[in-house]
Amino acid sequence: MSRIAVGGFQHETNTFSPVKAAFVDFEAPDAWPGLTRGGALFDAVAGINLPAAGFVQEARGLHHELLPLSWCSAQPSGHVTRDAFERISAMLVEDLRAHGNIDAVYLDLHGAMVAEHLDDADGEILRRARDVVGADVPIVASLDFHANVSRQMAQCATALVSYRTYPHVDMADCGARAARVLHDLLRGTQVASYLEQLDFLIPLTSQSTLAEPLQSLMHEAESAERSPLLSLGLAPGFPAADVADCGPSVYGCGTDVFVLTTTVRQLASELRRREAEFALELYTIEQAIVEVGRADAPRGQPIILADTQDNPGAGGNADTMGLIKALVTPGVQGVLAGVICDPEAAAKSHAAGEGARVDLSLGALSGTAGDTPLDARFKIVALGDGRFTGTGPFYRGARFDLGPMALLEVDGVRIAVASRKQQAADQAMFRHLRVEPADFAVLALKSSVHFRADFGPIASRILVVEAPGPNIADPAKLPFTRLRPGMRASPRRS
Ligand SMILES: [Zn+2]
Repeated sequence: MSRIAVGGFQHETNTFSPVKAAFVDFEAPDAWPGLTRGGALFDAVAGINLPAAGFVQEARGLHHELLPLSWCSAQPSGHVTRDAFERISAMLVEDLRAHGNIDAVYLDLHGAMVAEHLDDADGEILRRARDVVGADVPIVASLDFHANVSRQMAQCATALVSYRTYPHVDMADCGARAARVLHDLLRGTQVASYLEQLDFLIPLTSQSTLAEPLQSLMHEAESAERSPLLSLGLAPGFPAADVADCGPSVYGCGTDVFVLTTTVRQLASELRRREAEFALELYTIEQAIVEVGRADAPRGQPIILADTQDNPGAGGNADTMGLIKALVTPGVQGVLAGVICDPEAAAKSHAAGEGARVDLSLGALSGTAGDTPLDARFKIVALGDGRFTGTGPFYRGARFDLGPMALLEVDGVRIAVASRKQQAADQAMFRHLRVEPADFAVLALKSSVHFRADFGPIASRILVVEAPGPNIADPAKLPFTRLRPGMRASPRRS
């Protein structure tokens, strides 16, 4: 039995978003627990599809003693403030020191965190942890699929283990994999690691592992992760980050340096060979409305419009109304849209009550360029307290707390509204307001890819729409200044 310190600090930073992540954003719960320090962290994450939960369960099964640090996450947004980063890192370091003699460290990190004063914030956390425990204590970190893996991260951690799915249905599994890697390291296995960064950015909506080319590439990565390799990870990266380490990478760690470097290089060259398959497919709002008008979707199989640029899971604010306003048109019927974050509209709806009609200026609170609110008289169809449990494969077990919610209707378009922003990636977010998504002809969802896990099976078609929002779908349109020399902002088409 070994003594393993367990902590987590997750943030995916869209450096182009002006909305920073402050300490309070990490303190507050969303679909995932708020900042939890000490022993309560094990219960806080239990049963949720989160790496820390999978790690704890697996490591306990392997009879290790787990020592709690702290765990927190905040919704993807602009830079993490210096204050938030320093306070939370200090807690991790202080608790790591306080536990005294430990045999290993596990950290649940994202891998694409950028702080106001640190471009490679995850690398810095690992560096500080390494400083505390010294060179010989194994440190294993799990990383998101969207990690922008840096050399510092690869050097300071003994091993990195990253998700294999997008939608991320394997977060808890990834934590369990990290526990097994750490178990091997604790038995004295000596490893080297190797990282290869690629030279083109991959748009988020081209990264789904439910489609090619990543479906087969990820399958290759999974089957090549075998002895003498302990871990082999293909991380497509989070493209909306203006930092030198932004981009896809292949990482491995193992006991045989030759096999390790050969395997990593092979997978990286395969990724390069398939670059053109990552090219972006986007619809303008006008094109999407034409497709919707043309569609004759069978009942129970809606056409889904992914409002990716305002996806709060990638730095959007879930309040732009461009796509929804275009759907409020006589030619389109049976629309369900959401989830719009507008606490004032939700409060007014709760004050008026179910069945009432209220005049609202809905959405467009964050001032996204080119976006205006939807001013109308809405019928309040249903109300909810925003507390429910995720049921889909991605948000499984997540205990949502989205504040007062309302289902509003205008001209046959129903819109789910919440008081806190959350990516529309689980049907429970709508069922909480007593509507069944499959009963609609058109779903307009504030999500890029994660919605595919729960909504994909009911969809007749999925169109990715370029509507107003800060999460620019085409990385080539972002004003980068700090990418590595030679880095292409979008994949070559041939
Ligand atoms: Zn991710």
